[in-house]
Amino acid sequence: VSSSHEVTGSQSPGAGAGKRRRAVELVSTGTELLSGRVLNTHARTLATYLAPFGLVLHRDTTVTDEPAAIADAVRGALARVDLLFVSGGLGPTPDDLTRDAVATVLGRLVVSDAAAESHIRERSERRGRRFTPAIARQALVVQGAKVLLNPVGYAPGERLCSGDKTLFVLPGPPTEFAAVMDAHVIPWLEAQTDGAGRLPQHVFLLCGKGESDVVALLKRHRLPPKEVDVAFCASPGQLELRLTGRRHGAAVRSRVEKAADTLRRLLAENVFAEEDTTLPAVIGSLLRAQGKRLAVAESCTGGLLGDRLTSVPGSSEYFQGGLIAYTNDAKIALLGVNPDTLARDGAVSESVAAEMARGARRVFAADFGIGITGIAGPGGGSEQKPVGTVCVALAGQEEALTRRLRLSGTRETVKFSSTQAALHLLRRILSGRPQDRE
Ligand code: ATP
Ligand code: MG
Repeated sequence: VSSSHEVTGSQSPGAGAGKRRRAVELVSTGTELLSGRVLNTHARTLATYLAPFGLVLHRDTTVTDEPAAIADAVRGALARVDLLFVSGGLGPTPDDLTRDAVATVLGRLVVSDAAAESHIRERSERRGRRFTPAIARQALVVQGAKVLLNPVGYAPGERLCSGDKTLFVLPGPPTEFAAVMDAHVIPWLEAQTDGAGRLPQHVFLLCGKGESDVVALLKRHRLPPKEVDVAFCASPGQLELRLTGRRHGAAVRSRVEKAADTLRRLLAENVFAEEDTTLPAVIGSLLRAQGKRLAVAESCTGGLLGDRLTSVPGSSEYFQGGLIAYTNDAKIALLGVNPDTLARDGAVSESVAAEMARGARRVFAADFGIGITGIAGPGGGSEQKPVGTVCVALAGQEEALTRRLRLSGTRETVKFSSTQAALHLLRRILSGRPQDRE
């Protein structure tokens, strides 16, 4: 990072005394983001992209589509930071006025860009769309902008300099926002760091440990070392722990690695990945490596487990299929669950989950079958089986493994946590460490 790009007037917590870290802001535009219709996801996306570079998102201002509101927010942010992202409102409709607002703030004109125009023309021809004036409008950029062609859409992004400040204007649709980040912004950031690249970092994905457990453990072992930050991100059935060095260079890198070695030793049974990935992807790699196939039988999760498994590219290599058997009749007819078991133990029981798992394994001729049955709520609970009672089972060649869970949260989180629990059960078997804690 060149010195002319050091932030003035902003100091991030954790940066160490006297150390300045570049601050970044985002201006998200879009009336729909403020009306409750669309969830603003760009702040999270951007922060995730920036973190490895040691860049911290300090503020996300969301404004309506009105040019005056956009200009106001951009002007304010530019006064505070030297790296600013502005998203949305680059499209073909009359409410897409971001470039005009940015041009106003910078005192520049809006001009048509030849490269953007031919990109847009080719793309519309390829897709059999007429090259209308509205489509052509998306080739307009702020004068002096470095045009960042959009690999997955029409409107290009733009990189602008104003004094020693850099401003990125990026398209609003989340896939386009991410694609322009990947194609243009990240390479620019890599170049800015003078080839030093990303800050040293190590990530652990954990299960069966809460944030407070890990915080206590870190304290006991005097971790993290100097100039290494720890960040946590908890979600249902998973805790992410990320170590990030505050500086480039071999010394801090080796401190991060040493701390990672220690943590690996201390948390071995709780670590399910040491990269940014998902539990279904980890399961997928294990199944593929072992040449094993999986099938599922779902009741309360309503197909969520199948959905998560099939979200992994290439899952057809190991995922055979799934059945949603919601009623008792469906469990009996489709999965061969014994009516006597249902009558004796109830639909939400470890025995029924086990029979569902065995049924899925048999119906789909798979090596492993998973069964999930439970009460996702908010209604339907009883004193014996309160809302959040979920039974999961894993059937392989041997006796089915079962777990009875007491989950909390909304219907959505209970469903998600149930799929996590079932996948963790399978992961333990596949990784040959059935003693691991979930
Ligand atoms: P388009 O060419 O599609 O009009 P655009 O660059 O003009 O793209 P917008 O019109 O602001 O962008 O938004 C396009 C779509 O992307 C809308 O569906 C919008 O809800 C969504 N979107 C925009 N900004 C965000 C955001 N911050 N988070 C999530 N979705 C967003
Ligand atoms: Mg638009």
